Amino acid sequence: MGEPRPGGARNKTTKIGDEMGESAAKAELNERLAAYMNRKGLRSTAQRRLVTDLFFDSTDHLSIEDLLAIVRKEDPKVGYATVYRTLKLLKESGLAAERHFGDGVSRYEVASDEHHDHLICTECGKIVEFEHDEIERLQDELAANHGFKLSRHVHELYGLCESCQG
Ligand SMILES: [Zn+2]
Ligand SMILES: [Zn+2]
Repeated sequence: MGEPRPGGARNKTTKIGDEMGESAAKAELNERLAAYMNRKGLRSTAQRRLVTDLFFDSTDHLSIEDLLAIVRKEDPKVGYATVYRTLKLLKESGLAAERHFGDGVSRYEVASDEHHDHLICTECGKIVEFEHDEIERLQDELAANHGFKLSRHVHELYGLCESCQG
């Protein structure tokens, strides 16, 4: 089942985890990344580690520009290409999930074994994650009725969040 995600508003604060404060989940992400890079013969760099560290700390759905802004608060010398390539690496290694929410921007979140779907505000871009057992069950049932065995699905609901309904 994994750890429940923090509820309510997405926490925008990011911090560099020190040895003591690093969560078990993050340590596992770092281990999986190190193993993947080893297999591929890729070297880690200080900048790349900073990018992956801040990404793993985030619970947001970040565009490349979003992550670049977060990274540059720690190290203004990090360039777009480094963030782009690091996110590509994280995606290829299965540690980042790429999302598209209808505005042509690729967003990335830390990949999780726990499935969730998204509610998206078309006005302010607020994203809410949800998981609903009954919806999941109905999707499987509907697919089966059409002779499908599902391997994955993306369920996105678009509309106005509470504060954008004016
Ligand atoms: Zn909104
Ligand atoms: Zn999500």
